[in-house]
Amino acid sequence: MSIVRSKRTFGGGREADSRFPEAVSRFRRKRERHGARLALLARLALFARLALFARLALFTLLLGAGGLGAHTRIAWGQDSPNTAASAAPTTLRPPAGAAVLPTQSSSSAPPSSAPPSSVPSPSTATPSANPAPLDGRDGRDLALRLFRPEPSVKLRRTVVERARWPVVDIHTHFRVKTRHSVEARDAYVELMDRNGIAVCVSLDGGWGEPLEEHAAHLWERYRDRFVIFANIDWRGQGRETEPATWDCQRPEFPRIAAERLAAARRLGASGLKLFKDFGLGYRDATGGLLRVDDPRWDPIWEACGKLGMPVLMHTADPSAFFAPIDEKNERWEELHRRPDWSFHKGGFPARAELLAARNRVIARHPNTVFIAAHMANDAEDLAELSGWLDKYPNLHVELASRISELGRQPYSARKFLIRYADRVLFGTDGPWPETRVRLYWRFLETDDENFAYSEKDFPPQGFWNIHGLFLPEETLKKLYHENAARLIPGIRERLEKWQPVRQ
Ligand SMILES: [Zn+2]
Repeated sequence: MSIVRSKRTFGGGREADSRFPEAVSRFRRKRERHGARLALLARLALFARLALFARLALFTLLLGAGGLGAHTRIAWGQDSPNTAASAAPTTLRPPAGAAVLPTQSSSSAPPSSAPPSSVPSPSTATPSANPAPLDGRDGRDLALRLFRPEPSVKLRRTVVERARWPVVDIHTHFRVKTRHSVEARDAYVELMDRNGIAVCVSLDGGWGEPLEEHAAHLWERYRDRFVIFANIDWRGQGRETEPATWDCQRPEFPRIAAERLAAARRLGASGLKLFKDFGLGYRDATGGLLRVDDPRWDPIWEACGKLGMPVLMHTADPSAFFAPIDEKNERWEELHRRPDWSFHKGGFPARAELLAARNRVIARHPNTVFIAAHMANDAEDLAELSGWLDKYPNLHVELASRISELGRQPYSARKFLIRYADRVLFGTDGPWPETRVRLYWRFLETDDENFAYSEKDFPPQGFWNIHGLFLPEETLKKLYHENAARLIPGIRERLEKWQPVRQ
């Protein structure tokens, strides 16, 4: 563990430009002395800008980028970003051509006289494509996605290269994310060695032949480092666009599913993973969405209980994904970038209804272990989640891709994780770059403040920073591996065999 000074964190104030007052007073003195001459110069400058604007607009049109049109931007006023966001949050700007208007030194014209302009459009833009450095005094807006504040607050930055206790990452995707790449698998095992991850649980097993392939991929060399969860193939040989032809519509499907899960268990699969399409994607014969708590599926959950296979269920998604993608949406940038992640309208059930349906399933099957993925998709409301954990003793959660949520409420999250230390498992949603993986150690183990939860330039899951939880040793051990060893078949043996590679 080494400690260095913070280089980059979000969320602090922007640095005041100390030259600004001086420049303004210089400008004012000049204006008093040379008012008329300046007015003429300003008019000439405006004319030159308009001419350049016209040329650039034409150029953009010729390039075929004219259709980029007006983009919604969030105005980050220097006075108060919050006021800007609530009072006049979005402004429509001129076409892309307007994005590269040159600026003039603010000492030659007051900000109010500058024409509206903006940074480049999302599809063509990089900050460096802008010829003139941004200057908040010239009236141009800054696109939210280009905002890169460098806080002036000096904070400790702890680099935790290796988790404190052996880790079981119960939420990884070695089919979906790395597509059975042998190189990616081998490289990740080295990353696991470096970081103290003893075992990864791949949730992409499938069943039948795909499961055999997946097992061959992971277990060919690393039988002791990977555990696999099976998945249900709801469609089978049915045609994708005709849900009536899908296997799951047949009355015998739940019984066959239970048999196939038993076969998966014999093959070595440890649990069952349900993707969020269950509730948001898979269809019934009439084209409606399959209901999570449809009693037709009860034999499946019962079978998992009998087979000792925990059910890891991803239901719904963050609350922002069910809200309008407007200026009030706290994940506007992300949803603007990935509109396909939004479940607002479009015939989707309400998020609360999906979560309630999942909870009804958990209540009906007390002998089955349920692990609700991503903090049961309710990390935004830990009080509500506490209520569920109190009510359903067979409910557990895991924190993959939710350090962004937990870390913005560090006092509540710390209390929560200590109180429910036996009910929370560790997961990442990886494979991830090593920087991201190490942020999990930093978040759980240190008391570092105000740091980015991702290696990406712009925070990908909400525009904020997180704070470390410095969890007690006992909590960390439970979270990192003890709960997984107790709940998931195949983990304990692997942990016992594991010889940490010290580097
Ligand atoms: Zn996942």
